[in-house]
Order: sequence, then C-alpha cells, then structure tokens
Amino acid sequence: MKILIVEDQVSTGLALSSTLTGLGHQPHLVTSGAAAWDLIDREDWRLILTDWIMADVDGLELCRRIRARRGRPYNYIIMLTCRTESVHRLEGFKAGADDFLTKPVHEEELALRLAIAERILAVQADLEEKNARLEAMAGTDPLTGLANRRRLHDVLGGAWCQVRPVTPYALVALDIDHFKSYNDSFGHAAGDEVLRTVAEILRSGTRPTDLLVRTGGEEFVIILPGMGSNEGLIVADRLRKAIAAHCWPLRPVTASFGVTVASPTAKTVKVSDLLEAADRALYHSKHSGRNRVTHSHFLPKEMSAATERDRQLAGAGLR
Ligand code: GH3
Ligand code: MG
Ligand code: MG
Ligand code: MG
Repeated sequence: MKILIVEDQVSTGLALSSTLTGLGHQPHLVTSGAAAWDLIDREDWRLILTDWIMADVDGLELCRRIRARRGRPYNYIIMLTCRTESVHRLEGFKAGADDFLTKPVHEEELALRLAIAERILAVQADLEEKNARLEAMAGTDPLTGLANRRRLHDVLGGAWCQVRPVTPYALVALDIDHFKSYNDSFGHAAGDEVLRTVAEILRSGTRPTDLLVRTGGEEFVIILPGMGSNEGLIVADRLRKAIAAHCWPLRPVTASFGVTVASPTAKTVKVSDLLEAADRALYHSKHSGRNRVTHSHFLPKEMSAATERDRQLAGAGLR
C-alpha cells in the first residue's frame, strides 16, 4: 500500500524506502515534518511512518496536527525512534501515535507492524464507508430519493441559523394541489406514484447543484444557489408548467408555488423565517386559485400581519 515516510536523515529514509518497496509497498519519502504536513493536508496518506526527532515539525507535532483535523479519513501513524523507555512511548501515544518501531528497523518486525496497520485501516475504511452510507440514508426521503427536511436543515445550518449568504439563493416551496382527493379517488399507491413523478419532474428541471427536498407529505422545497428573485420565479414557473403539462394517467395534477430569496445585501434573517416567507407566498398561490407562483415580495398587505418577524423580513427586502 501507499506509505508516507517522514525521515530527515536521507540515507535512513532511502534505506527504509527500499525495504518497503521490497515488501511490496509504494513508499514516498519526505525529509522534513513540514513537508510531510503539507503533503498530508493535500493528499490522502492513510499510513505514515515518521521519525520522532526532526528539526522543524517533529514527529510528535506532526501526530498532534494530524489528530487535530476533523472529518478526514483515519491516518495510522507509526513512529520511528531510538527512544525505548516507556515514558517516551507514553508521550508518543498521547500525541496520537498508533505504534512504534525502534531504529534500526528490523525488517521482519516492520512487515508485521505494517500488516497490523493494514488490518486496522481496512476495518476503519469499512466503517467510514458504512457511516457515509448511513449519513446519506438519514438525509434521504425513501419514497422519492430526494433530500429530506433533516438534510435541508443541515445544509442551511438549522432552522434557527441566521443567514446572510455570500451569494444569493432562491428558496422555492411547492405543494401538490388537492392531493387528498387524488388519494381518496385512486388510492395511496397511486398517490405515491404522483409524488415520485413530481420528484422526477423537479429533478429534470433543475441543476444537479440545486437541492431538492421533500419536506413532508406532498410538500417540497428547492434551494437554487446563485439565483435571485427573477431566476427563482422563472425556474418555479417552468416547474409548475412541467407538472401541469405532464401526461398524468388518472387525472391532471398541478402544484402551487411560493418563492423567496436569501440575499447577501439584506439584513440577516433566520432560516425558519425564509421558509415561512416561501410558505406564505405558497399559500397565497393556493388561495388565489392554485397552480400558480407567488413571490413573497408581492404578497398583499392583508397576508402580512405586522409581526416582529414580518418587519424583519420587510427590512431584509424579502417582500
Ligand atoms: P391543497 O391543494 O390545499 O394542498 O389540498 P391537499 O388535499 O393537497 O392538502 P391536504 O393537506 O388536505 O392533504 C394532503 C394529503 O397528502 C393528505 C395525505 O393523504 C396525502 N399524503 C401525505 N403524505 C403522503 C404520502 O406519503 N403518500 C401519499 N400517497 N399521500 C400522502
Ligand atoms: Mg531525525
Ligand atoms: Mg400540504
Ligand atoms: Mg396539497
């Protein structure tokens, strides 16, 4: 396997490198802790053999830096040292070393220690893959394959997060019209098929970088990064038309839409306020006849009771 050797004595490093090659590995030698840190930060090195005493970043410091990182695959670190007393080993373990090898390195022992490292890294990789799959599942709606509400809140930073994004994004909320009566007339399975088809229409009408969410029941939210009000309205209306124009086998299906924007120039607002603004616009679409798009900017006065939250939204230019 790929092994990073960190050894400031070039001759020792080269000898170790050729031993590792002989054992069937692909070693890469760097001759300082700083160079190693630079490489580890940029590339994926699962197995690291590092000298302890080095001029700039020593082996202990390298271990500490590697362990301080979050959200990265596990690195297995073997320290090479002439220090054999247990007090030194404890110091190394505290810094984050997994194992030690005493210099000069005995080839057979090296091979055995590497076999242990490979075994642990394989278990670790398996766990990481399973975790990634679980994480994806926990954020996915099983019926449509779209993201779910949990994922939406993860992406937006949580309902109570204050947002003033670096680039604008449009937030579109939509709700299928008269869906209860569709279920009542044709059954739940036919209703599920409508939900899947709507999800497919949303997918094919948006960019892969847009976030499509089934927030619950027959309700969806779409985040359109980089889009302002006009683009958000255009996309929402295109999706509305695509749903209405789809060749539905049992009876026509339509949806009502609400659009709002999170703008970098506005005052910060809460994510929950943005969702609520899109929702109010959506319910205006419902009340004015369904199968239409409303922007939260253009809600009539009677729909915007002057609550503190509304004043915030108005101040943020969201209506
Ligand atoms: P409106 O136009 O005002 O939105 O009317 P509606 O009938 O769509 O709204 P309502 O909230 O009264 O009903 C929503 C229906 O969505 C009720 C429920 O049976 C249905 N529903 C919610 N989740 C699912 C689901 O997972 N599958 C199916 N088939 N139906 C669902
Ligand atoms: Mg040294
Ligand atoms: Mg609904
Ligand atoms: Mg509905």
